[in-house]
Amino acid sequence: MGSPTIEDLGPKVLARPDHQVSRGSLSSEALKVLYRLHRSGYAAYLVGGSVRDILLGKRPKDFDVATNARPQEIRRLFRNSRVIGRRFRLVHVYFRAGIVEVATFRASPEPPESPNDWEEAAAEEAEESTTTDRPQPATEDVVYGTPAEDARRRDFTVNALFYNIADFSIIDHVGGIEDLERGLIRTIGDPDQRFIEDPVRMMRALEYSVRLGFEIDERTSEAIVAQRDLIAEASAPRLTYELLESLRSGHAAGIHEAWRRAGVFTRAFPDLPIDTDESMRVLEMVDGEIASGRELSDPSLIGSYFLGRFLAIAEEETSETGRVDNPQVLGRLRESLDPASTSMHLSNQTLHLLHQGLFALTKMRRAPERGRQVLKLARQEYFKVAWELYGFAVTLGYISPDAYQGWKRALRKVGSK
Ligand code: ATP
Ligand code: MG
Repeated sequence: MGSPTIEDLGPKVLARPDHQVSRGSLSSEALKVLYRLHRSGYAAYLVGGSVRDILLGKRPKDFDVATNARPQEIRRLFRNSRVIGRRFRLVHVYFRAGIVEVATFRASPEPPESPNDWEEAAAEEAEESTTTDRPQPATEDVVYGTPAEDARRRDFTVNALFYNIADFSIIDHVGGIEDLERGLIRTIGDPDQRFIEDPVRMMRALEYSVRLGFEIDERTSEAIVAQRDLIAEASAPRLTYELLESLRSGHAAGIHEAWRRAGVFTRAFPDLPIDTDESMRVLEMVDGEIASGRELSDPSLIGSYFLGRFLAIAEEETSETGRVDNPQVLGRLRESLDPASTSMHLSNQTLHLLHQGLFALTKMRRAPERGRQVLKLARQEYFKVAWELYGFAVTLGYISPDAYQGWKRALRKVGSK
């Protein structure tokens, strides 16, 4: 007889007195969803990042629920809900304060020829497609699984803990509690295989290690080095999504540094420049904005990579008398942005705002002379992007504080700031 596997031992269960998750740490919407499922006779667990974050004493970004109820059954329990997804269907329950995502327990692994779930989920998020009227998939029972299977298909042990509303216990099928205590990011199962299955997980491992201040388990870390070339083949919208998530996390500088050191950044984003001190400084400024509770739009977040380069171009194309060679600036701006916009599948709208927002900065290097000039610019759709990047350009030293104060005053006068 060999040594017992995790399956043989069954899950580790922490009863209510033995952990920190109280009902008060959940949003009232998540609690409502969990209780209604439970009272209707279903298993209902809080899952994923929210359990991890509460155990670490952090406020979760969002609350995800998993259950044995099928999508149509969930749908019937919540009037304000929608089924989304093609093959695997999730239910979004809408509240004024936001969405609670409810998923039926899933089996794993996927048949190798089928597109990866996480890929599908990201693609649908991008399209915001809803499929309420579609028939149930014929293969439903193959797709849905037990709680243990649902835990094991997740990426990292610390992301696979369940909080059971029936008895307020934490259920751990994968050794996540121990890794959480030790501060370790470890894939569930063989790391090489899990990264081959979905290369984006390599970016995620590094991202979590920075955000949570955790180490990456040695085997997981070795597998990143062994498998990192696969990142170049990962789906562009998913990579771009992870990039934007990192920029919004408040830890962008640290995450980029970790991505760079592990050799994954240039494989994922060969057309994004982060090789200079200046670009790292801009990422620190992005983190500063997030830390003070401000949100930056997607074009501004992407624009931050190109800001230093663009401002240098604008300076080079400005004559001593202050005349700007606009076609030349625009041409060179395109040259630096276009490869990235193509490889990252940026939307036309994002690219448009990015071009215009950056270009507007050339006109803001001196304090405005006429109120009309200010009004005209402030009314443009891209002005928000320009203004967000303008603050960074001032800090980088490309714009004089006088010009900045001049624009602030003028904008206040016309009622725009
Ligand atoms: P965040 O705080 O960034 O929201 P999170 O852990 O909630 O972190 P999400 O991207 O919201 O991360 O995903 C929710 C959960 O889904 C994860 O905790 C994990 O269990 C699972 N998951 C997400 N992406 C993957 C993936 N690529 N492979 C396997 N499991 C994944
Ligand atoms: Mg989440």
